[in-house]
Amino acid sequence: MRLEFRGHDYKYAAEQMMLTLFPEERPQYDLPLTGEENGVCLTLTEGEGTLNARAELTWNGKHTTGTAQVPAVPAENSLLRDRACQKVLKLAFYRAGVEALGHEPPWGALTGVRPVKLPTRAMERGATPDEARRELEEVYRVSPGRAELAMDCAKASLAAKRSLKEDEVSLYIGIPFCPTRCAYCSFVSADVGRALKLLPPFLEVLLQEVDAAAAELKRAGYVVRSLYVGGGTPTTLSAEQLNVLLGRVGEKFDLSRCTEYTVEAGRPDTITAEKLAAIRNNGVQRVSVNPQTMQDHVLAAMGRAHTAADILKAFELVRASGIPCVNMDLIAGLPQDTPAGFRASLDQVLALEPENVTVHTLALKKGSRLMGDGSGEGPGLPTAEEVAEMLSYAWSALRAHGQVPYYLYRQKYMSGSFENVGWTKPGWESLYNICMMEELHTILSLGGGGVTKLVNPYTGRIERIANPKYPHEYVESLEKLRTGKRQAADFLAALREERH
Ligand code: SF4
Repeated sequence: MRLEFRGHDYKYAAEQMMLTLFPEERPQYDLPLTGEENGVCLTLTEGEGTLNARAELTWNGKHTTGTAQVPAVPAENSLLRDRACQKVLKLAFYRAGVEALGHEPPWGALTGVRPVKLPTRAMERGATPDEARRELEEVYRVSPGRAELAMDCAKASLAAKRSLKEDEVSLYIGIPFCPTRCAYCSFVSADVGRALKLLPPFLEVLLQEVDAAAAELKRAGYVVRSLYVGGGTPTTLSAEQLNVLLGRVGEKFDLSRCTEYTVEAGRPDTITAEKLAAIRNNGVQRVSVNPQTMQDHVLAAMGRAHTAADILKAFELVRASGIPCVNMDLIAGLPQDTPAGFRASLDQVLALEPENVTVHTLALKKGSRLMGDGSGEGPGLPTAEEVAEMLSYAWSALRAHGQVPYYLYRQKYMSGSFENVGWTKPGWESLYNICMMEELHTILSLGGGGVTKLVNPYTGRIERIANPKYPHEYVESLEKLRTGKRQAADFLAALREERH
C-alpha cells in the first residue's frame, strides 16, 4: 500500500494501523498516490488547542476519508505529544479503513501487542474504570467482550504496580532446550536428542552468569521480587542439574523479598517426582504444566511425544509435590482441532482446578514447521470463525469457574488478530507475567535467549540487552554476558541516583 505523509513522519504508527486493517499489505513510500492503486495520504495539522488528522484512502477502487481530533500537547512534553500525534493519525486512518472494509477488527483501532496499557494509563491519569472502558469501546471501537478483558487486566496491572517497591526487579532464566520440537514452534530451543552434549557446558556458563548477575544486582542495591525460569522446557534438565542451578540461584541472590518463584515444567514428558522435589525444595511455588490440548490426535499433529493421559499423570505428580500454584496453557486454533475438541480440552483442564489457565491463540511465525512455505496455510487449521468460537467458549467457561483475566497480549501473525490471555483464581495472579507484559519494572534476564528489559519508570523508556539465542553461541559468550549484567546494574544504579 502506498503511504504518503503530510505534516509529520509517523511511519511506525501508520504501518501498525495498515497491518491491523490490511494484514496482507506492505508499505511503499517511493511511489506517488494515483487514486487508483491502494494507498493512503495521512495529514496532520494543529488547530486552536487541537491536533487534527485526515486520512484519504483508496482501497480496491473505493475512496474513503477519515478524520480525528485530540487535544494538543505542548511540544516540550515530547513523549506525550508523540503519543497524541500517533493516536490521532491512527484513528483517522482507522475510520477511513473500516468504511472501506465494511467491518471492524476485534480490537478495533488498538494496534500493538499491549492493549492493556491504554486503560491502565487512563486510570493512572485519574479516569474512572467506566471512563477508561468507554474510551476503549467508543473511541477505539474495541468489542465489549475484549474491553471487559482489557479492563480486568488493567485493574490487575494497577494492583501489581502498587505492590512493587522501587528497589525491586524481576529475574528471568532461560533454558533453551526441549525434548523434541513442536510443529508450531519458532523458538530457538534445541532438542536434547541432538544437542544433549551442549547441556553441561550451557549449565556451567549459566552458573557463572548467575554469579555475575547476583553480584551486579547487589552493587546496584536492588533485590529480586519475582523469579521465572522458562524456556524452552527447564525440566529438560535432570533433577540433579535443577538442584545445582536453583541451589546456586538461592545462594547468590537475595530472595528474601521474592514473593513468586516459577519454573516452567511445560512438557509432561519431562516431569518426574524427583525433579518436582528438587524444584519444591529450592523454594519454587509455581509451575506451569502445558497441555496445549487434551486431544491425542492434535498432540500428535503438533509433534508432541505424549498423550493427554500423560498430562493427567504429570498434574497428579505436581499436586503430590506440594507446589501450591499450577498454571496450565491451552492453545486455540491448533491444526486438526475443532471448537468441540477445544471445549473438551478446556473442560478437562478446568476439572483439575489449576490456579491459573493461559489461553493462547495459535500464532504462526516464520521458523515454525507449520509455516512451511510461508503461505501460513497448514493442514487442518481451524478458520478464524472457529477460533473465535473457541475463545468465546473459553471466556464463559473460565468465568463460570471463578477465573478472571489478569494479563493479556497480542502477537503479530496471530490468527484472526486475537490475543493470549492469562486467567487466574483471585489471589493467584502471577506477578512476573504482569510485570513482563505491562513493562512495570526491570526484568533482568539470564540464560539462552533471555532479553533484559531495562525500564525507566519515570520516562517510560525501555532499553534491551539480549543474550545469545543459541546454546552453542551462549557457551562462548561469558564475557559478553558479564558486560550485559554490568550495563544493567549501571542503569539501575543511575535510576537510584535519579530518585534521590
Ligand atoms: S515446548 Fe515450547 S519451546 Fe519447546 S518446542 Fe514446544 S513450543 Fe517450542
